[in-house]
Amino acid sequence: MSIEKLTEAVRNIPDFPIEGIQFKDITTLFQNADHLQELSDILYERYKDKGITKVVGIESRGFFMGPATAIRLHAGFVPIRKPGKLPYKTIEEKYSKEYGDDVIQIHEDALVPEDVVLIHDDLLATGGTMAAAYQLVKKLGVKKIYINFLIELEELNGRALFNHDVDIDTILKFKI
Ligand code: AMP
Repeated sequence: MSIEKLTEAVRNIPDFPIEGIQFKDITTLFQNADHLQELSDILYERYKDKGITKVVGIESRGFFMGPATAIRLHAGFVPIRKPGKLPYKTIEEKYSKEYGDDVIQIHEDALVPEDVVLIHDDLLATGGTMAAAYQLVKKLGVKKIYINFLIELEELNGRALFNHDVDIDTILKFKI
């Protein structure tokens, strides 16, 4: 199956949740068994030789393929969540969104210095969410960090928030 077919399976919803946003609905991609298998295979092929020990998924759409990828890679899965959801001691990172600030948290003992981490989310827009997640994981002092998104909105240039040496991979590319 081609990347084109997977790209076509993403449903674009104009003006959702607010006017001006072209929302990428991945439920239409996931509901097809062949598409889901192909996505899982692509993720496995890209990271199988990297020695990944933990996949970190960002709430909430990073919780679809994150755990599925962790299982394929024989890695653990660690959630990054919104405040008040994680029950144990957490560290947090604030970041700016279009309207106001937001906070994400991770359990303080979820990662160890020997970990090679793959941080996964569904979509790279401005990059603010992932930049905050990257800082959180870095604070826990792991050996190496890879970043993956299913979708990149190229014209928003979210990659600019990261240094060139950060390993960022995206599977499906849209202009906006
Ligand atoms: P950002 O921090 O701007 O890169 O936004 C990324 C987060 O917002 C991801 O977790 C996405 O799920 C969500 N998001 C932002 N823009 C879109 C969009 N056009 N379609 C679907 N999800 C989006």
